[in-house]
Amino acid sequence: MNKKEFHIIITNDKNGISGCLHGAHFGRSIFEVAFDPLTVLCDLLNTVDYEDQSPYVQENYHFKADYRNHPFFRDEEYQAAIDKGFPRPHGFTLFYNAVDELKVIFENNQNASLNRFEVYKQFYGLEFTNVIEFQRINPMYNKHEFCKKHNWLKNDPDSEYQYETLSYDKKSDNSHTMKAVLEDADNQDVPKRFTYVCHSLEDIIFSVWHYLILLRYKFNRCNHCGNHFATKTLKQKYCKRNSPYEAYQHLGCEQAVRNIAQKLKRRKNAIERHYREDIKFQLQFDPVEFDVLCKKYSDASKRYSSVKNLKVYENYLYSPQFEKVKDTKSENKKS
Ligand SMILES: [Zn+2]
Repeated sequence: MNKKEFHIIITNDKNGISGCLHGAHFGRSIFEVAFDPLTVLCDLLNTVDYEDQSPYVQENYHFKADYRNHPFFRDEEYQAAIDKGFPRPHGFTLFYNAVDELKVIFENNQNASLNRFEVYKQFYGLEFTNVIEFQRINPMYNKHEFCKKHNWLKNDPDSEYQYETLSYDKKSDNSHTMKAVLEDADNQDVPKRFTYVCHSLEDIIFSVWHYLILLRYKFNRCNHCGNHFATKTLKQKYCKRNSPYEAYQHLGCEQAVRNIAQKLKRRKNAIERHYREDIKFQLQFDPVEFDVLCKKYSDASKRYSSVKNLKVYENYLYSPQFEKVKDTKSENKKS
């Protein structure tokens, strides 16, 4: 048994897709941290800063102070190794390379192929092993009495599901069968639990990547926060992270953009109403210019709903020239 082992467990069930990284030392659990498999790799880019100044990849990267917030750096051994040489510790060249590799993939809205993955395996000396399992309804679920009576230890009556690995097929090796299972779009019975046993930081990174390649995810840039995320369809424009927009940080990116756009629309209506009702205001207000500017800012923030574009529109609608315009009650209400 290896001294240190990490388990990556990715489950995709009715509650959605979730990941867990579990660290163990001589078989004793040392930490457990949950992560989102669709954003965790992309967030690695936020753990480091990049300067294009050397042909050597390890000279261009350095860790940011808050790198510890990333679930993959939960292990104290990595933290000690980084802190010793902070911000540019030695021994992380493979990690910098992996980040470099991911960056190119993200920017091209693609993902690597399984063939390409074999090349990574060699280059990064990956050693992870994996178990892929299907989910079955547990026939003993909630049948506590039966289990007690018959001394039934095989199934846990408290868990709704049980997991089983793909059965061995004599005609082909397991990986081929798995590939066929995953590539058949009509097949409803897709594996639900992926467990990877990892021995290094690279193993951890590439095991999640392996999952995303197997399930044919691509990468897209979020149209609000600007961070990348994995998705099966590039039509999905927003990630599931929380919005960075002030006062909307409790909402996911998509919902935040919808609520901000609604608020701005109501504000625009209030200004127009005020114009119709206030004679003094009519003398100093140019409705044509107002329309042109509103259209310009609103179109820009629809194309790319970044914090910056939405803020420009908001700042205009709340500029001193409109300070007499009151927001109606519903404008402050969260929708
Ligand atoms: Zn986002």
